[in-house]
Amino acid sequence: MTIAIIVHGGAKTITEEKVEANNKGCTAAAEAGWAVLEKGGSAKDAVEAAIRVLESDPTFNAGLGATLNKQGEVEVDAAIMDGSKLGWGAVAAVQGVRHPISVARKIMDEKPRLLVAESAERFAAKHGIEMCPKEDLVADEQEKQWEEQEKVIDRPNTVGCVALDADGNLVAGTSTGGTANQDAGRVGDTALVGCGLYADIEKGGCSTTGDGESIIPVVLAKTAIDFLAQGKHPEQAAQMAIQSLTERVVGEAGCILINPKGEIGWAHNSTEMAVAYRTSEMDKPAVFTKKEGVDPKVYASNRH
Ligand code: ASP
Repeated sequence: MTIAIIVHGGAKTITEEKVEANNKGCTAAAEAGWAVLEKGGSAKDAVEAAIRVLESDPTFNAGLGATLNKQGEVEVDAAIMDGSKLGWGAVAAVQGVRHPISVARKIMDEKPRLLVAESAERFAAKHGIEMCPKEDLVADEQEKQWEEQEKVIDRPNTVGCVALDADGNLVAGTSTGGTANQDAGRVGDTALVGCGLYADIEKGGCSTTGDGESIIPVVLAKTAIDFLAQGKHPEQAAQMAIQSLTERVVGEAGCILINPKGEIGWAHNSTEMAVAYRTSEMDKPAVFTKKEGVDPKVYASNRH
């Protein structure tokens, strides 16, 4: 049975000094998810494991290192969707939770719903999910960038993952700190099924990233899945979805896709988007910081 995993580290600009950290982080996440799938574990566990790695890495705008809102605080959103039952769980505007994806996962396992702010935090604490003082998630670099906002070049970089397990199930997850200097309480696409993610065992799985205010009106993740449902290869479906966003609204975006056959696709209209993936035909993850201009030294295992 084919297994596959793809992760992204956000549609954004990646400056030269951040390339290595993005590559390392995405590779580590893909490997963590792969380790689960390889042992016959579920796509749910693989997506959660991969996203937890990215949420622990201050290179990415999720969990520790998330971008700060106008109040100078970390406030995060995350969601997960299970393609076998169309189950889902989501949290938004949450503080003091190290792994928002795990809260979303717990919600999905219990009863699909979107919990926000204190309600999500109470749920997390009640279920023994690791909590921390909200200040603990503020990384030095984000704090500095917040204080000197005009110097920020790198866009915030949401994370996401799609996995196909040996049982043929597809799961998608996305986790974000939102957009830099966002209003407290602002929620983008990440927590919204159809926009920030979608998974349907019969069609495929998708995680998106970019400007939430542009992704929401074009329902980007479901749009990409609809192209898969028309029989398009994930590469084409991803490109068509991003193109359809670009044609209708102004904004940066990216998406990653896997179809039920384990074929991979991804596209972005941002300057860069870090991506790592592995399929059954590969012996290690392939990693990229943008669609073109692949460095053969780094990406030796790319057989795509
Ligand atoms: N989509 C996220 C949001 O709008 C941000 C991002 O992906 O960079 O909250």
